[in-house]
Amino acid sequence: MTDYRRLRVALLGAGAVGSQVAALLRQHADELADRAGARLELAGIAVRDVDAKRDVDLPRELFTTDAESLIVGSDIVIELMGGIEPARAYLLHAINSGADIVTANKALLATHGPEIFDAADQVGAEVYYEAAAAGAIPIIRPLRDSLAGDRVQRIMGIVNGTTNYILDRMDTEGAEFSDVLADAQRLGYAEADPTADVEGYDAAQKAAILASLAFHTTVPLEAVHREGITSIDKSMMDAARHAGYVIKLLAVCERLVEASGESISVRVYPALVDRKHPLASVHGANNAVFVQAEAAGNLMFYGAGAGGVQTASAVLGDVVSAARRHIAGGVGVGESTLANLPIVPIGRVTTRYQITLEVDDQPGVLATVASTLSDGRVSIATVEQTVVSAGNGEPGVARLVIGTHKAVEQDLSDTVERLAASGVVERVVSVLRVEGD
Ligand code: NAP
Repeated sequence: MTDYRRLRVALLGAGAVGSQVAALLRQHADELADRAGARLELAGIAVRDVDAKRDVDLPRELFTTDAESLIVGSDIVIELMGGIEPARAYLLHAINSGADIVTANKALLATHGPEIFDAADQVGAEVYYEAAAAGAIPIIRPLRDSLAGDRVQRIMGIVNGTTNYILDRMDTEGAEFSDVLADAQRLGYAEADPTADVEGYDAAQKAAILASLAFHTTVPLEAVHREGITSIDKSMMDAARHAGYVIKLLAVCERLVEASGESISVRVYPALVDRKHPLASVHGANNAVFVQAEAAGNLMFYGAGAGGVQTASAVLGDVVSAARRHIAGGVGVGESTLANLPIVPIGRVTTRYQITLEVDDQPGVLATVASTLSDGRVSIATVEQTVVSAGNGEPGVARLVIGTHKAVEQDLSDTVERLAASGVVERVVSVLRVEGD
């Protein structure tokens, strides 16, 4: 056996991901040593309750509640506790104690990323977080390293497995949101409190991380426009299918090039995706990140966005990278915010839309709708009209599904407000963006 240098590894957290990381570090110790060029010695595991039952068998003596002491003297600290505090304090302590850090904590990086990266920069430490944006899917390294010589134009990600599972079942089974959510909770795909997933908070954190990397710009979480999927119902799904689309919760990170200069937009919302687009074929709880780069063209990264052992794979990849850097020395790639592009509000974003209205079924209504749209700088690409109910002497109700050309979000929302107040529109059924052109 090669006599490798030993690196002390501290693990903070032994839950779904941490316990798998600990098990793999021990099971594959020899192989990992060969790959890293150093023996990765698991010095201890900090948890809240040392006697709690774990997913895998690990020696009792590895566990401690004293994270602070475990961190001191460690070469690599892996944080898999989650949440903001004390994870933030422990990571800063680790950095200032001379360790490189590995974390999967999207909530922390999306809110305190700059503080952590700056602290690491000050002391020449490195922060690895491959598992923070899309679980097992390698996307951080491709954005940070492989595409470092290219210019990313747009990222469209399905980065939340729970919402993709729900929307996929609504699409394929014609089921209602609340029924699928209840089922997802029973099967363990959704938390008892599903807010972080279904309201798009989790996806927004990942969008902030991806956009920061892709555009070399600090993207605070507050700058990410966020909408969840709770308003999506069976009728919207049916209408989407009828029009050749599927509804997906997308994290969209986009570079906008205008005469006045470049800016970026970062947003999370349910959007219509053409069924022929690669993202439409992402089923179940899977994730995918579709990257459009100036020279590379279209790339798609696909796989498991969560799961203990799957996520542990990405974490261990980071641990091996950290170990190699420790052995080889030198400065890591660091975080680049050199572009610091302005982030535009949602009102300035341009996309296509599908507007579904219920209108009075009588002559002149279509003309009123068309002129209101045109006055609002929203150009119609397609219109489909179906009768919802015959009038029995009174005007009946017709459903208009209007596909627009690209329009500015603020113009579109102002126009929809005017349509709602126009007297001919009974109900604005839905307004959905169309993404993926
Ligand atoms: P988890 O199952 O809730 O485990 C958290 C672990 O951290 C537990 O072992 C817990 O100790 C420990 N812990 C929590 N607070 C602590 C404290 N104050 N002091 C010491 N230990 C503490 O979490 P997880 O699902 O493994 O997720 C870990 C991280 O990975 C999170 O940032 C999450 O966002 C990220 N992530 C998870 C997944 C996934 O599929 N699960 C995917 C991608 C990224 P006890 O066991 O003693 O309570």
